[in-house]
Amino acid sequence: MFEPAERVKRLPRYLFAEIDRKIREKVAQGVDVIRLGIGDPDSPTPDFIIKRMESEAGRPQNHNYPPDEGLDEFKQAVADYYAERHQVELDPEREVLPLIGSKEGIAHISFSFIDPGDLSLVPDPGYPVYSIGAQLAGGEPYYMPLTEENNYLPRFDRIPADIAARAKLLFLNYPNNPTGAVAGPEFFEEAIAFARENNLLVCHDAAYSELVFGGLRPLSILEIPGAGSVAIEFNSLSKTFNMTGWRIGYAVGSVGALEVLGRFKTNIDSGLFKAIQRCGVEALTNPARDSFIDSLRGLYSRRREIVIDGLQRLGWPALASRGAFYIWAPVPAGYSSQEFVTRLLDETGVVVTPGRGFGEHGEGYFRIALTVGEDRLREAIERIGKSVRFA
Ligand SMILES: *Cc1c(COP(=O)(O)O)cnc(C)c1O
Repeated sequence: MFEPAERVKRLPRYLFAEIDRKIREKVAQGVDVIRLGIGDPDSPTPDFIIKRMESEAGRPQNHNYPPDEGLDEFKQAVADYYAERHQVELDPEREVLPLIGSKEGIAHISFSFIDPGDLSLVPDPGYPVYSIGAQLAGGEPYYMPLTEENNYLPRFDRIPADIAARAKLLFLNYPNNPTGAVAGPEFFEEAIAFARENNLLVCHDAAYSELVFGGLRPLSILEIPGAGSVAIEFNSLSKTFNMTGWRIGYAVGSVGALEVLGRFKTNIDSGLFKAIQRCGVEALTNPARDSFIDSLRGLYSRRREIVIDGLQRLGWPALASRGAFYIWAPVPAGYSSQEFVTRLLDETGVVVTPGRGFGEHGEGYFRIALTVGEDRLREAIERIGKSVRFA
């Protein structure tokens, strides 16, 4: 009756629909389903942020429209946080743009820069918003394979010159969802040089910036000299402070790019609830911040070891995930990722995500989200062990 627009009709089919149906079926049968599918923190937002919301929610001066460009105090808090954590100096006025969650900015950056015929270079496997944003804006994604053999870092030397010439945006994401890979400064230097040669805007998605393990230090792409003129970094309070439902993130970096993104988005949204921005200030500046982040890192680090050790005992090779809260593992021989995930759910009640859902190069893998407690993870490994072995 009401015909959807072409751009909506072209949206990819929801790859997890079949698994969602199966989960509902299992739950209805009374199966104790262990959900390691969705990457949404299971722990609550820390108390010092909740307390701030309790007082901010009641202040009438928070109840009207916020300024379009965001609250000065939130932008200042982001700038101070980058100075302290990354030794990156940002002008809070022009180099920080608050977002209604980073996903909002990641989607809108494509509308801000992509015209029909333009390309975005996007990682495969990757967070789907990069490619869908390009498509919705009338352009197209060009997929850069992330493979085990290249440590899940794209090879810029494999991108054809005519593709690079048509591309306007280069999306990167480290620590990486779904592979758990981490990038070092040499890789970011290479990305910036490639972007400069080809006149690309680098869009680095740093949603998991604080979640690195094994003694690694969180790294911002803006730490690379010269990055601020060709790159923006998306960051978020979602994963760092267990605030996925609050919708608060930001972009930092290139003044020119942020001006364009800000101009676009202020025509569509009216910013973030001021009380939430003030809670963002609390998250980024409270004296308990660093100990909270350390404890969060400890929590995921212990879970990560349980899964990596557990899978290794079941014959899986040593898994290299070093960041984010995901384990990326190969499926046993003879299965597609979808078949393996379906069998696992059927035989064990454990839900994981098929790698194919993140792109063609995700085929042959599955993703485990470390967003349930240690006992449930041990139980999941035990159940998996009764059903399958890797080799
Ligand atoms: C969770 C996630 C985000 C964003 O989250 P917001 O809640 O929108 O800030 C962005 N990128 C990746 C790769 C994610 O996994």
